[in-house]
Amino acid sequence: MSAVQELLDKKCTMITEAEAPHLFETIKKISAKANHKDAVLHEVYFINPSSGDLYDYLAGCMANGEKNVLILGEKIRKIFNHVSPSDKISEELEAVIAHEAGHARFRDLKSMGSHWMSFGSPLAGLLAGIGATALALHLTNKHGEDKEKQLAELDKIKDDSVNKEDGSMKFFTTAACYLAGAAIGLGGGVQVGKILRHNMEYRADLFSAEVLQNGKPLAKALEKLKEELSKLKEGMPSNSIADFLEGWMHPPIDKRIERLNNWSVA
Ligand SMILES: [Zn+2]
Repeated sequence: MSAVQELLDKKCTMITEAEAPHLFETIKKISAKANHKDAVLHEVYFINPSSGDLYDYLAGCMANGEKNVLILGEKIRKIFNHVSPSDKISEELEAVIAHEAGHARFRDLKSMGSHWMSFGSPLAGLLAGIGATALALHLTNKHGEDKEKQLAELDKIKDDSVNKEDGSMKFFTTAACYLAGAAIGLGGGVQVGKILRHNMEYRADLFSAEVLQNGKPLAKALEKLKEELSKLKEGMPSNSIADFLEGWMHPPIDKRIERLNNWSVA
């Protein structure tokens, strides 16, 4: 069973169009405006209450096989005045759903849930760092060849102990070079992964603004979430909550708000 299916089975309840007509109407409106086959949200699930802070505040879209599944936590619905499934949809909640449809539209869903998104670029960076170190050492040795020949005569007069010491020094220097190269590569890879992930968020924000022809509703929604989550962050530190405000997965929330407020019809 897929991890998404397991999450849906264990923590979520499926909501039908008959139970939540306004919600489905909003979803259809968004995909009609987006006018793209990938911007369709096929199914809606509400996360069961008290599933844990991450889930309670989660608004997300996931790929379950070929279906795009919208999932909404209990508390995030309450923040946007959607208490019962049959309640009307505020402009802010519509903007949040449009953001999620944006992730579906740009096929972010599969990569967002995959381990390659988390480990791929750091691993690539690490390997690139090691490769670059090997190349640098190879080139350094090559350029050193002539010099080595010139020094060969001098080496003859060195005693064995000096030569041994020289060998172990070379080993540590080489090891240190590789370690530094790997660390720099890894750091770079992590940064690249973060930039890719942040760009997905900005792109989904832009999608929401374009679908609604207005960036302000999502900006207002993010302001509200910032306020609610900041309160929570003080009382109950949680990495996932902190990440939503600013972290590896999400760009600084103020930057997102600023971009949305500055959005205007092109
Ligand atoms: Zn997002």
